[in-house]
Amino acid sequence: MEKIEKILFTYEEIQERIKELGKIISEDYKEKNPILACILKGAVYFAVDLTRNLSVPFILDFISILSYGPSKETYGIVRITKDLDINIYNKDVIIIEDIVDTGLSLAYLLRVLKAREPSSLKVCTLLDCPGRRIIDVPIDYKGFEIPNYYVVGYGLDYNENYRNLMYIAVLEK
Ligand code: 5GP
Repeated sequence: MEKIEKILFTYEEIQERIKELGKIISEDYKEKNPILACILKGAVYFAVDLTRNLSVPFILDFISILSYGPSKETYGIVRITKDLDINIYNKDVIIIEDIVDTGLSLAYLLRVLKAREPSSLKVCTLLDCPGRRIIDVPIDYKGFEIPNYYVVGYGLDYNENYRNLMYIAVLEK
């Protein structure tokens, strides 16, 4: 199994940042009851901790997407493998993502969810890797910006491993 090269964000740093995000989102959604559309599986850990820092009522729901094709960069084919349970028509929706990388999955999801006519649709991601972006996507809330690394931990996996790390780390090449 690959080894951890370095820790990018400690558990404490992640929690501190999530606390700040929770405060900002609670303020922005003061009179609202947002639907948090958590993208499985990577964003689960982030979504759970974020909800613990919200002071507004919310509905937590899940959606799962699959990107495939020999190379995501050349294909960017995405499909929904588990849809949201809730109808988002006329609702305030926040997509909760672990990392925005090429932006292809998020661009697809934004297109699909927008067609359902929510009254608002925003994006909250724990990590943003703008160096690998292929398609421009709007990010309303972000935890941290990172350089061009493949990261694991705190929900993010490498072949399903490392999700349960309490920190975010770079894998040894
Ligand atoms: P995008 O479509 O923006 O390229 O990729 C989004 C998805 O790819 C993320 O939700 C995540 O599941 C996966 N991904 C992208 N970059 C990384 C990374 O550095 N580490 C891990 N573990 N997954 C990543």
